[in-house]
Amino acid sequence: MSVRRVSVFGATGSIGQSTLDLIGRAPEGYDVVALTGGANVAQLAADARRFQADVAVIADESRLEALRAALEGSGVQAAAGPAALLEAAARPADWVMSAIVGAAGLAPGLEALKQGATLALANKESLVSGGALLLDTAKRHGGTVLPVDSEHSAIFQALVGEDMAAVERLVITASGGAFRDWPLDKLAQASVGEASSHPNWDMGQRITIDSASMFNKAMEVIETHEYFGIDPEKIEVLVHPQSLVHALVGFQDGALMAHLGAPDMRHAIGYALHHPQRAPLPVARLDLAQIGRLDFAPPDPARYPALALAYQVMARGGLSGAVFNAAKDAALDAFIAGEIGFTHMAQVVAQVLDRLLPDNSLINAPMNLDNIAAAAHLGQTQSREAVRKLASHR
Ligand code: NDP
Repeated sequence: MSVRRVSVFGATGSIGQSTLDLIGRAPEGYDVVALTGGANVAQLAADARRFQADVAVIADESRLEALRAALEGSGVQAAAGPAALLEAAARPADWVMSAIVGAAGLAPGLEALKQGATLALANKESLVSGGALLLDTAKRHGGTVLPVDSEHSAIFQALVGEDMAAVERLVITASGGAFRDWPLDKLAQASVGEASSHPNWDMGQRITIDSASMFNKAMEVIETHEYFGIDPEKIEVLVHPQSLVHALVGFQDGALMAHLGAPDMRHAIGYALHHPQRAPLPVARLDLAQIGRLDFAPPDPARYPALALAYQVMARGGLSGAVFNAAKDAALDAFIAGEIGFTHMAQVVAQVLDRLLPDNSLINAPMNLDNIAAAAHLGQTQSREAVRKLASHR
């Protein structure tokens, strides 16, 4: 097997660490080009040393000296800041993991695609904010985007050898998150701690809270629309508490192909890492006889109001995904900071969409990084404004 050049953006996070776990099981097969982190210098430096990366980049520029000190004598180059992230993404690599959280993941992903790399995309915010730009960049430069989000990896796998024209619907499952069984009238009082614990998946804090509110599923619905180019009315969400069926593809002959697996992101990461082959992966095997039953239910719109917002965004198109993602992130920040309650997050984002989607001309502007940033700024400021109003009435 030839040695493959790989980079991991967001290496210090949950997805990044799972990616390095897989790479670390067969290090002779990989030449690690760049590893990046946001603020966690100790983890970044330890991994950069272990994998003998060419460069380690920390996004927080104030931590450059600490990174340099931690890497002293290792031969690994230290760098910091957004420009250094782009420079690292421009280094030739065969396979690049995009696992930075938030909108900051888009620009490095685009840069990697411009080099013709295969981009393993965990950063769903990239597709939600700038899906058309990302996929168009891949097409123009000979790059490839492979989905890593478990539902999208599942759909991708179920579609191998199939014709998209024969697809009737794509169904993505949702665990229902931390509050699936809570009384509805208790949701407004839910704490950050309570929202940060997922029943099945072990993930970063932001995506875990987004699972409880189903903003995560709303993002994934948009991701499905962008990545597979399928009409919004053909995308369904199904609550499935066991998180073992990740997605289903319905065909025009009535067949429904389901993808099942343990809730372990190393499956989807490993599939993207070895694509188009399959390789052995260290994930649990399902014993369906022991599991015995799988449950499904439609999502309750009163419990998960965020879901309907995704369909509003898809109907509007253009840069509305960037507005949505930024408004959601600002509302999530406000919830984590204790400024607003759990149920306020969906209210805030709904207000922003109601205000901006109908006639803000920026939504129709051409999709490029500057306009995506401007739309995100608008979504963020409007979201903060809505938070301020709500917080003043609490
Ligand atoms: P984590 O919060 O665990 O990790 C995020 C990573 O991004 C860390 O390396 C963090 O660095 C880095 N980072 C944070 N802010 C910045 C910034 N401004 N610039 C550059 N780097 C930054 O998140 P996850 O691993 O859970 O998620 C990563 C992405 O994958 C998200 O888009 C998420 O939605 C998606 N995803 C995650 C899944 C999961 O199971 N975790 C499943 C499917 C998708 P540091 O920690 O050093 O500050």
